[in-house]
Amino acid sequence: MDSVTLEDTTLRDGLQSEKIELTVEDKVSLFEMLVNAGVRRIQVGSFVHPGIVPQMADIEELIRQVKAPPEVRLSALVLNSRGLDRALKCGMKHMNLSVSASDTHSRKNVNRSFEKARSEMIALTKQAVSHGMAVQAGVQCAFGCVYEGAIPEEHVLTTLQYLSEAGAGELYLADTSGMAHPRQITRMVEQVHHHLPGETLSLHLHDTRGLGLANIIAGYEAGVRGFDVSTGGLGGCPFVKGAAGNVPTEDAVNLFARMGVDTGIRISGLCRIVEWLESRLGRTLPGRMCRVLQHGALCD
Ligand SMILES: [Zn+2]
Repeated sequence: MDSVTLEDTTLRDGLQSEKIELTVEDKVSLFEMLVNAGVRRIQVGSFVHPGIVPQMADIEELIRQVKAPPEVRLSALVLNSRGLDRALKCGMKHMNLSVSASDTHSRKNVNRSFEKARSEMIALTKQAVSHGMAVQAGVQCAFGCVYEGAIPEEHVLTTLQYLSEAGAGELYLADTSGMAHPRQITRMVEQVHHHLPGETLSLHLHDTRGLGLANIIAGYEAGVRGFDVSTGGLGGCPFVKGAAGNVPTEDAVNLFARMGVDTGIRISGLCRIVEWLESRLGRTLPGRMCRVLQHGALCD
């Protein structure tokens, strides 16, 4: 049976733009529920300035409190060497970093031009690798930008190449603005496989225009076996108006289960998390499978 790896980003991409901040205890509970549902790769948060992203201010305490079984891989987002130092002090072994291929989005997101941010991320990758960390590095706005429109493919490909040469063991393409369509995904994945053969590539797809699952299928058919997801579809982007979260974890699990592809994750466990999140946040999340299950349909 073929299989894919779904990396859950609820604790990081999901919570970072929420007005309601969960307590550390709540985040630990969320982490444990994800593990119990069968999720094996979990992004726990970001080592960013607590004044800018207060939702992530407690990441050290969260990492101290979670007890991850050996088969579960924790990772966190790092944007600069100060963040890297904090991650190293916490004993983190995996880090995510990214650079936006859109100059305008980069300036809004990290207050730096694309070129400057890219140089810094290349240096940060080398620094992390020299400390024995495994780095997953990606390109944001890889399929277009709400400010700039189309993004030149060569920007994306050369950035991935530089990050790979700097020591990133895994690469990803992020559809930050939710503008990608399936044919574009197919073409870009083929380009990456052609220019960077043998690299492990995953996709981080926001569902802003409702094309998330279609784009996942296109990526899968083109050979991608790793996808970022967010339980309930929680998330957005503070710098992209109207942005939706990543593809809901439970809907991606259902998609692959229906296609006969193993994820190792149980939808029923995820739906308990969706109900729990909805009660904490006081609103309904966009994922579909929780609603299906609540109406008594059989899953798993
Ligand atoms: Zn994202």
